[in-house]
Amino acid sequence: MTTVNPHKPESKNVSPTKLDPPGPGERNDSAAPESKPQTQRELTPLANRVLIIGLDGATFDILNPMMEAGRMPNLAELIRTGTAGILESTKPPITPAAWTTFMTGKGPGRHGIVDFEKYDVRNNQLSFNSTYEIREKTIWEILSEKGLRVGSINVPMTYPPRKVNGFMISGFETPSTETEFTYPPKLKHAILQRWPHYNYSSDWQRKVLGGDELFQRNLRYIEQSFQQGYELVEYCGERFGWDVMMIMYKLVDNLQHKAWKYLDPKTSGRHPRRAEMSARCFTSLDKSIGDLIRYARENEAMIIVMSDHGHGSLDGKAQPNALLEQWGYLKIKSRTIQAKRRARKIIDRLLGRTTKRFEANLGIEHELALDWSQTKACVMHAGMYGFLYLSLKDRQPGGLIDPEDYDRVREDLQRQFLSVTCQNREGETIQVFPEVHKAEELYNCRREDQPWLPDLLLVPNPGLAVVRKIRGHQAVRWSSRHRLEGTHRVEGILAVNGPNVRSGGTTHASIADIAPTLLAAIGLRVPADMEGQVQTELFSQKLVVEYEPPQTIETAEHKEVYSDEEKEALTRRLTDLGYLE
Ligand SMILES: [Zn+2]
Repeated sequence: MTTVNPHKPESKNVSPTKLDPPGPGERNDSAAPESKPQTQRELTPLANRVLIIGLDGATFDILNPMMEAGRMPNLAELIRTGTAGILESTKPPITPAAWTTFMTGKGPGRHGIVDFEKYDVRNNQLSFNSTYEIREKTIWEILSEKGLRVGSINVPMTYPPRKVNGFMISGFETPSTETEFTYPPKLKHAILQRWPHYNYSSDWQRKVLGGDELFQRNLRYIEQSFQQGYELVEYCGERFGWDVMMIMYKLVDNLQHKAWKYLDPKTSGRHPRRAEMSARCFTSLDKSIGDLIRYARENEAMIIVMSDHGHGSLDGKAQPNALLEQWGYLKIKSRTIQAKRRARKIIDRLLGRTTKRFEANLGIEHELALDWSQTKACVMHAGMYGFLYLSLKDRQPGGLIDPEDYDRVREDLQRQFLSVTCQNREGETIQVFPEVHKAEELYNCRREDQPWLPDLLLVPNPGLAVVRKIRGHQAVRWSSRHRLEGTHRVEGILAVNGPNVRSGGTTHASIADIAPTLLAAIGLRVPADMEGQVQTELFSQKLVVEYEPPQTIETAEHKEVYSDEEKEALTRRLTDLGYLE
């Protein structure tokens, strides 16, 4: 059981307080910036400070009914007196791609993150993405270099934490609290001292006979993470001082994945008890938002509430690898081995036992016993979209397709996937993959500059999620209505409030717009190569926008940051959430 420390610092001064002398690895100036002159902004700012509240996967489809029922008064007031609307996610609309786009103001074709996993064509290996794979500067680095103080709490794709002018606490992909998950490193000990049951990842327990009691326990864990989020903001904000600070409520997404049928007004009426329990969780979230709004107002900060993507029902799973097998592009070694592995996993799950038998190459060998000598194309990983790679001679070890056949094979597959149709649950014929993209066309980049990107990205019909595993032979396995869980949609949320923000306004922006808008609002020039647009209509005053030359960063060669044991832990976490299948 997690407990949270109710102690709150009394000081309301956002200059860093001298709670501790700086330790090894901690910046000297973090203890005494009062002596430093105020940061010179390049332009007249409309916002002195910015507090960003990230609600992973939040959607107005859930929030609007909650606000109308009076369950989220703080968010409702923030929206009524500010400007709000849809925030469109990235392609694909998933956590690692979308939050990295938020942090860089650029799409996956630039920053390189399309999924949690990354397939390295040079050695035919899957690994997990980390901050080392982000190929562009993030706002934390841009702001730090310009002398502003930043703080980032639990934002996905910030492990291992990078050095910033301020602090960084990495997100739910932190393997364990044994690792260095904070910058400065010393902050970790302060956190673990203050929150002995520091709660940073999902702990959703599943047991067949768990019943309402287990469900309630899962919700309590989530509610505690909301309360802890606010406490971290206040604690770190006081300790380090801040110009731009962000807190991420990751478990909003997990709650929706697990409890969609209790939250969706279309189905929640059939489960009144669990619907009530789940709705109360949003009231706890709103209480935390209320505390953050008060804290931001005391510090005259602009508030940005945003999600990385929306959410909706998960109606079925698309199985492109089943199609590739039927079309002769992919060969399974033995269906018997695969069936045995699956049976073992199901027994473990029924017993509530954690399965520890993950084979090499992360999930794929576990899910698909592939005969690589006869596999010319495979969806190597999937996150809403399917990420398909061809086995190309001179690129992968043991590659099969001649380079001169690459374009033809890729185009054949593109056409074939686009032509796949099936009947949905209403009996209508739908295209399983309404869009199939070449990476360089989708992201408007050059293939040779971004060789790690998939050869094809398969975009499923809304309501479907692509999986790499094969169960049966159909293109789509429809979920039974009884088991209805949730999955992502493109439409996320944005709500902005504070001095100089338009009251009662509406907006429709894209997640790449947030970084340039934030920089302009806080009085800095915007790097000219950011793909997002400054959203000037959010403000009641004229926002002056100036640009500066693009900045590049030295990207390290691929660095494996997770040990085998940590990979197992992360694989389990992502599988439990339904992110790795
Ligand atoms: Zn997300």
